[in-house]
Amino acid sequence: MDKKIADIIESYREDFVRTLRSWINVPSIKGEAGENAPFGRDVRNMLDQAMKTARDLGFEPVDYAGYACDVKLGDAEEEIGVLGHLDVVPVGDGWTRPPFEGVIENGRMYGRGTNDDKGPSLAALYAMRAIRDAGLPLKKSIKLILGCDEESGWEDMAYYTAHAGMPEIGFSPDASFPLINTEKGMIHLTFRGPASGSGLKILQMCTGNRMNVIPGKSKALLEGGEVLAEQVRAYSGKTGLPYRAESAAEGVWVTAEGIPGHSAYPEGRRNAIGMMLKLLKALGAEGTPALLADTVGMESDGAGLGCACRDDVSGPLTCNMGILRLEQGEWIGTLDLRCPITADLEQLKDSIAAHLPGLSIENLELKAPHHVPAESELVRSLLAAYEEETGWKGEPMSTGGGTYAKVLKQGVAFGALFPDEEDLAHQADEYAAIDRLMLAIRIYANALIRLAC
Ligand SMILES: [Zn+2]
Repeated sequence: MDKKIADIIESYREDFVRTLRSWINVPSIKGEAGENAPFGRDVRNMLDQAMKTARDLGFEPVDYAGYACDVKLGDAEEEIGVLGHLDVVPVGDGWTRPPFEGVIENGRMYGRGTNDDKGPSLAALYAMRAIRDAGLPLKKSIKLILGCDEESGWEDMAYYTAHAGMPEIGFSPDASFPLINTEKGMIHLTFRGPASGSGLKILQMCTGNRMNVIPGKSKALLEGGEVLAEQVRAYSGKTGLPYRAESAAEGVWVTAEGIPGHSAYPEGRRNAIGMMLKLLKALGAEGTPALLADTVGMESDGAGLGCACRDDVSGPLTCNMGILRLEQGEWIGTLDLRCPITADLEQLKDSIAAHLPGLSIENLELKAPHHVPAESELVRSLLAAYEEETGWKGEPMSTGGGTYAKVLKQGVAFGALFPDEEDLAHQADEYAAIDRLMLAIRIYANALIRLAC
């Protein structure tokens, strides 16, 4: 990158940090809809704050009824889109710093949204500012679109597309560097199965509340006494897996201790429902839990459902049972599969149904995969910018997660978490390193110069 532009960006440092803190100060968690505030007052305040920043920097942001705003640089008809978001997930437990104060320690700013996605979104805005301040002529215009509903239903993008029209090409600074050009397809479904059947009697079980989370703990109440509790302990000893059993007046309480995580990234995790099912079957359960123990169990590759597959671009299929409940005489659960781009989703869906006889499937949702070829000009330009600014090798990656990149016909996710950084998005003590955000501004400016100038 031209030294002049690098110097311009460095001169923004203090202003950038102050501005980011003012964004972190707004707890933009989704709330009850109001006028011009479809996602609640706090999200609306955040949108106002972001538009104020854009105006202070000399841009003319446009508000789309509280769903999103956009900030444009240049007036060429051909556009490069940059898609970030201003909403954040709820705080959750375990914070050791205040989540909305933007406290800085050792060069890191802590707070909900520092990394996902206010820091990267603001970095993209400052990259546009640098291109403008450097006086670079643009052949294409750059449009930063800041949505307000990424963490929930993506209604912001639907509204924006309908009312403003979406650029065809661009990136979303809402994931990781170097770049994600492949987002797997998805199959989401709910199943129901009968609770009757002979064998072990399960009195209560209710685990998980989100389809896309690998549950970390599963608890069940079984009919039986100390003999059964002893069997659980023996099974725990035999398998080396952490189960606990306590006899009580109402029966035996059994707990399976898994390792929680995101359903798209099962490596190194352990699904507590799968553990519980394996135990229940070993203790003599028949019917639905036994079937689920055999077909889903503790595996995350979908093999028992006839779904295991992979390709070189996307990696393997992943499968997660996020919820399993015993409710009013029946079992209700969910499956969340993330499928390689070459997989046939219809065929996988049929295979799941065939492997779960006697269970009914509902709320079936198939989402097509998204892929931009590694040889495309977009991917090559962005990776060249990344390599030039960091000195690191840039390879495109695949994810089972989803970003706004797929809203664009030709879109990829690009930053702003670096490969050597820990990902604390949606977790306690989320932070962003200021130096890394400054580097992200340089990368985004470099990339936008390649794409638009
Ligand atoms: Zn995000």
